[in-house]
Order: sequence, then structure tokens, then C-alpha cells
Amino acid sequence: MKNSTVLEKKIEEWKAEFPLIEDLMSTREVFWVNPLYGNKQEESLHSITEKDIQDAEARLARFAPFIMKAFPETEQSNGIIESPLAFIPNMQQKLSELCGLNIPGKLCAKFDSHLPISGSIKARGGVYEVLYLAEAIATKHTNLSWTDDYSILKNDDFRNLFQEYTIVVGSTGNLGLSIGIMGAALGFRVVVHMSVEAKQWKKDMLRSKGVIVVEHTADYSQAVEAGRKEAEQDSKSYFIDDESSRHLFLGYAVAAKRLQQQLINLNIVVDEEHPLIVHLPCGVGGGPGGVTFGLKSIFKENVHCFFAEPTHSPAMLLGLMTGLHEKIAVQDFGIDNRTAADGLAVGRPSGLVGRILERDIAGVFTVQDEHLYLLLKMLADSENKFLEPSALAGFFGPMQLMATKSGRRFLKERNLLDKMPGATQITWATGGSMVPKTEMDKFYQQGV
Ligand SMILES: *Cc1c(COP(=O)(O)O)cnc(C)c1O
Repeated sequence: MKNSTVLEKKIEEWKAEFPLIEDLMSTREVFWVNPLYGNKQEESLHSITEKDIQDAEARLARFAPFIMKAFPETEQSNGIIESPLAFIPNMQQKLSELCGLNIPGKLCAKFDSHLPISGSIKARGGVYEVLYLAEAIATKHTNLSWTDDYSILKNDDFRNLFQEYTIVVGSTGNLGLSIGIMGAALGFRVVVHMSVEAKQWKKDMLRSKGVIVVEHTADYSQAVEAGRKEAEQDSKSYFIDDESSRHLFLGYAVAAKRLQQQLINLNIVVDEEHPLIVHLPCGVGGGPGGVTFGLKSIFKENVHCFFAEPTHSPAMLLGLMTGLHEKIAVQDFGIDNRTAADGLAVGRPSGLVGRILERDIAGVFTVQDEHLYLLLKMLADSENKFLEPSALAGFFGPMQLMATKSGRRFLKERNLLDKMPGATQITWATGGSMVPKTEMDKFYQQGV
């Protein structure tokens, strides 16, 4: 590695410019604060607006009668796919003991792990993009109108129409699950390209629903490439691009509106004296990015979002820090992108997300796999909630914010330290309720 070059610069030069790269290459845990955070922007560098989030929310509401019919588990919520926000005082206590520091304020978890349909945060973005596509096709080829009761989309006429179309996606697992399950429910032909690391039970579940699963021996990026190529050859094929999809992003962004109401229901105030700090596991960036975009548009400078990545896959951190976004990958620096957090095993970040949010992400921290397992066991023991390893990454944030030098400096410089007793922190629990029990037992044992 020593003498090699990355984008025409020697590794030694990269390290001189960004000393943190040394730590990243050694897969040490880091807490990086974004130097651009909060800088004002002259003009928007992108075309996504609050209006787009409202449209996405309205589209999900139009589909609610269909979702309720196709997925009876959503009856309680009238076809709205949403997850609980809950205080986790026992976990907060355990985290304080673990780091030997008080974690001040309130600690909540947002349990996207328990979202209906696919049990992960992808039930927001992935599902939304499939619905978007279905509506576009149906309004073009039938007389479906936005004011109709969309439960009619379960009828054979619509299924026969959707059957003519193929949805293609490359996925490490959960995105494929969400798109496969929703796509199949509408009648689409769905092809999911998966990397070898993708869990067998996810492949099995998809195949049981009639989804075509193509396995690739190379990694995720190559799985995505294969999907894109396949879709290009067919005008009735639609490729869902995890790395740069607006629709996925908007599906995730709707979460913020729902969260706003849940905070009110829990009597949690967010204002200048009561900041909100959110810790989000990050893979390619769409999930945490969409949520951050939505939260920033509601709570402005009173919310601070940190992204969490595995020490072996610090893709977003590298992209933001160097400003090179999708032009740079962890593998360029010999970082192997091998992690138990399969939902976060991404070497190259989304350029769309990095550019939209380069001034809105407060920072990125990294977590070792052993810590993910430890946190998994702690949360199971203290709150009786079982998550997949990826979903635990955010739970490392409240500790690191207090325990690392850069975390504390961030709090001081932003005048947040004194406000922490009145602050609320949310750890976004991004997945896990669909993991088979035998798999979950193995995860738990790793934590022991
Ligand atoms: C996909 C995923 C994430 C991260 O979402 P990205 O859009 O890839 O950044 C986090 N946790 C879980 C469990 C996931 O499946």
C-alpha cells in the first residue's frame, strides 16, 4: 500500500492532507466532525425541496388502502408503514456504565427494525420507489386517478399490467427484500442482484415470493453494475439505483414528518434550548441521508445528525472528508469493506447524498464489529429488542459524543454541552425484526 497512488496522489500525501486516513486504514474507531457543518450555502446545489417530501407523503397516503389490503399487518396503522419511537432508559443506563460517563438528557430509539413489510429502514425508501413506479405506469396505461381508492390495484387488471414490467435492483440484502416483497405484491417481475455476503435467509425468502435472485461472487458495487446493465437492455425494465435515486431518498425523508408527530406525542420539545441529536447507521447513504434531509427541513439548526459506519466500510466519511464523494472508495486505501454489518458494507458512498448534505451532516463515527455485537446483546438484555448488527451502529454515538475528544469539542464549540441535560438523542434502529431466530441467537452469542 505504501507506494501506491489513489487518484494520482500518493497515500503519504493523502495522509498528510487528511491525518485521519491513517486511522481509517488501520480500522481504528474514529469520531469525525464535519468542518463544513452548518456553513451557509449561497444557493441550493440540488433540486430536492420540501414540496417533494410532501408529495412523497401524499403518495404513500394514496397507497395506504392498497397496502392495508395486501399486508394485513398494517391494518392497525391504516396502511401507513411506520415504526415506534420509544425511550430506552435501561439501555441509557447501561451505555453510561459502559463508558463510565453520564449520558445526559433523554435517549430514545426509533425502531425501524420493526417496520411492517420488510423489517428495516428500506421499507421506507425501497417500498416508496416501487409505489412511485406502479402509480406512474398505472396512470399512464389505465384511467386510474389520484382520487381513486387504490385498493383496486390488487385487481387482476392491474396485476396483468404490472407483470409486463421488470424491476431490477442490486442489493446487499434489505433493499432487495423491500423491493422484492412490494414489487411481487403488485405483480411486477422483480430481479434482485445480490453479493455473496448477502444472507441466505434473505435470498430464500425472496425466492419464495417468486422474486428472481441472481448471486454474484464479486462485491456489492459489481452486483449493482450487473443490475444496471440488464435493465438498460429493455425498455420495460426499471433499475432502482441505490447510489443515486431521488425516489428512495424521498421515501426516507418522509420519516422525519412522522417523527415530528411522535416527538409531540412523547412530550419531547425540540428548540434552541432542547436540541435533538440523531445517530443513523449509514451504508451508501440514502437512508440516513433522506432522514437527515427531512429532519433538517423541519428542525433546522436545532437538530444534529451523525452517521455511523463500520470501521471496515467508512465510505461516507471518506467521501465527505475528501469532498470526492462517489469518486473515492474505501478499497482505494486498502480498507477491505468486510463487516458483520451487511447493511452497511458499502465501499463507495452515494454522490447524490454526499453533495446534498455536505453541510448538513454533523459528523461520522466508526464502530468495530465486536462493539456492534456487544451493543446487540446490551439492547436485548436491557430493552428486550433484538436488532441486526448494522442497526446497532447508531447506539455507539451517544457514548462517543461524550467520550471522544472530537465529540466533546463539537459539543463545546456548538454551545451544546450545557444544553445536554435538556437534549434528546435518538438512535435509529434500522433493522432486525425479520431475522430468523436461529440467526439472531448466533448474533447474541457473539455479544456474549
Ligand atoms: C440499508 C441499511 C442501512 C443504511 O442505509 P443506506 O441507504 O445504505 O445508507 C442501515 N441499516 C440497515 C439495517 C440497512 O439495511
